[in-house]
Amino acid sequence: MNFAIIGATGNVGRKTIEVLEKSSIKIDNLYLIASEKSAGKKLSFKKKEIIIEQLEKYNFAKAEITIFAAGSEIAKKWIPEASKKTIVIDNSSFFRMQNDVPLVVPEVNVESLDKHKNIISNPNCSTIQMVLALKPLHDEYKIKRVVVSTYQAVSGAGKASVDELFQQTKDYLNEEKIVSKNFTKQIAFNLIPHIDSFSIDGYTKEELKMINETKKILDNDIELTATCVRVPVKTGHSESINIEFENLFDFANIKKILKNSPGCKVFDEQKDAGYITPLEVENNYTTFISRIRKDNSNVKGVNLWVVSDNLLKGAALNAVQIAECLINKK
Ligand code: NAP
Repeated sequence: MNFAIIGATGNVGRKTIEVLEKSSIKIDNLYLIASEKSAGKKLSFKKKEIIIEQLEKYNFAKAEITIFAAGSEIAKKWIPEASKKTIVIDNSSFFRMQNDVPLVVPEVNVESLDKHKNIISNPNCSTIQMVLALKPLHDEYKIKRVVVSTYQAVSGAGKASVDELFQQTKDYLNEEKIVSKNFTKQIAFNLIPHIDSFSIDGYTKEELKMINETKKILDNDIELTATCVRVPVKTGHSESINIEFENLFDFANIKKILKNSPGCKVFDEQKDAGYITPLEVENNYTTFISRIRKDNSNVKGVNLWVVSDNLLKGAALNAVQIAECLINKK
């Protein structure tokens, strides 16, 4: 197999190289592509140095599978042409809601891959970790409604945003002037209830992505509302999820189902430190579920705390797993 990564120098691109290194996929050639600024620089893959190529000069026919991790503008401009020569797995939101583009979390809806027409979308990072927990519960008890609040790490906003958190933290401690470029307000020692742009109904696009993508992946009938918050955590998104089922449920069975949920691990001791925090999930392939409890205001409700590495299962790992599924199906 020949692989290419568009946006190889970014947060998701670099993680994708790491995941491919550990993957069982046999890669003959890996092509690394970025902007003119990075062309000619090198990144290493399996101890070999690979020279980064400029997107405008790259020939998409060189790789059978191409992972795009360069944002929506690049996706919109390049993927229609690229997909005539290579199968594209795109991390951006640009194609996610198109009817003929599968939106895939392999543990949840791998069957949707069968219908691909050379473009496959990787869902939003917050959606991926949530549907991993929801899917087996929905299969057993049918979910009626979900209320989710997210606590999202700065690495979800790209490499420059991580640098901004570090710089602001230093400046704050040194009592220097704080400059915000990538965030609308200071992120160090703060949090911001705003991710992506606002739509006319007051929801942000990140919140709408979680709602619409969950319906597309899992079930259009699930009602969902979301509040997405950026927090001064480097990596690891956390979610407080309230689920209401159609019917009454057996609480012991809820825990059992979650323990067996593919891609997930339950860590829920219900005592001091008996839960997982974002710092603990960095570089971990697993999505962790803690704080499982009945909603004491609703006999048909449960609450969960779900934490995952947003750059791995939320992006690079899920994309490589999609590639593995494609190769296995072939
Ligand atoms: P990032 O760190 O800002 O990296 C952006 C990448 O795109 C860099 O490699 C950059 O190359 C490249 N790029 C930018 N402009 C380009 C151009 N004109 N031509 C060619 N390459 C260009 O962003 P990221 O966090 O990795 O996110 C990448 C994509 O994944 C986005 O669509 C994002 O929404 C999505 N995503 C991110 C996460 C997450 O948690 N971060 C999760 C899910 C999905 P240079 O270094 O040369 O500028």
